[in-house]
Amino acid sequence: MKKYNFNAGPSVLPESVLAEAADAVKELSSEGLSILELGHRTAKFEAVINEASEIVKRLMGLDDSYSVLFLQGGGTTQFMQIPMNFLSKGKVGAYINNGIWGKKAIESAQYFGAVDVVSNTESQKHACIEKQFSVPENAAYLYATINNTVEGTEWFSVPNSQGKPLIADMSSDIFSRPFAYDQFDLIFAGAQKNMGCAGVTMVVVKKQFADSIQNELPPIMDYRKLIDSNSLLNTPPVISIYVALLVLRWIENEGGLKEMEHRAILRSSMLYNVLDSIPLYIPKVAISDRSRMNATFDIADESLKSEFLQKCDSNGFIGVKGHRSVGGLRVSMYNALPIEDLEVLVDFMKDFAEKKG
Ligand code: PMP
Repeated sequence: MKKYNFNAGPSVLPESVLAEAADAVKELSSEGLSILELGHRTAKFEAVINEASEIVKRLMGLDDSYSVLFLQGGGTTQFMQIPMNFLSKGKVGAYINNGIWGKKAIESAQYFGAVDVVSNTESQKHACIEKQFSVPENAAYLYATINNTVEGTEWFSVPNSQGKPLIADMSSDIFSRPFAYDQFDLIFAGAQKNMGCAGVTMVVVKKQFADSIQNELPPIMDYRKLIDSNSLLNTPPVISIYVALLVLRWIENEGGLKEMEHRAILRSSMLYNVLDSIPLYIPKVAISDRSRMNATFDIADESLKSEFLQKCDSNGFIGVKGHRSVGGLRVSMYNALPIEDLEVLVDFMKDFAEKKG
């Protein structure tokens, strides 16, 4: 039975990428061995990581003043690596709390220094994003989560860092649209949603920002040393970086970020139209801040929720249940989700509402 993958991550991958990755697991072209056996200090792997970095910069419109890193430990490790590197004595980390991932970043930063939460949408249940706030003079940086995977909000403008370095978690909307990437000093994203499989986290950092690091750190946590070694201080996740390369090539071949954005708008507006027009469904987020990647909603009649989820299950829809921390329902629509898969879900939702109405 066909499954429809609306998971928040790891998420759906393009079929062509799955086929190429499967081939490479059997044998990497003309290497005589599997990608799983490939040494990370080989010319072949160097070509993989360099091509991946080049595509990242091309897609983001960035020049060589930025470095691209492929690291382990997930977005969660970035929550601590950022303050470890940039939160120096006498400075504060300015943080925006738009949801649980931002909150986790704040909690991690508090181990390393002073934190100032300059914007917090908790009292609005994170159903919107506040664009006005003030960043303190002694801020080392402003930190924002650009797409809030759990709550379903997304920034469509660049957060105003008021002259301070700007750091962004783009784990769940990376490469889903053209954006002013050059306004950021550091961007990170776990690969497992829009750019590959689990096991690797991309960090794009302005070299000048990395050069400003004053803290003494173990090499594996030090962005400067990771840049100098081209992410090869230790054994990297070769297969995950290879799959990211395949996805990056796929994004370029499909038409780049403009095309990804076009598809994201198509998919998300199809779903939000249903949520807005059928009273059974209650979208959770203010219209202007609705994520194109993760749509969150409730069912007006709570007693129908388990039946709705059961029917999703029997139709092969995966991942429609909301995050355990907030409940409700959530549909994730990442880059590789075929539009037709969303059409099938939307038809089901209309049909379910009609039968209950
Ligand atoms: N940030 C965001 C926005 C996320 O959605 C997630 C994971 N869903 C994380 C960080 C944590 O990433 P990881 O699981 O790779 O540590």
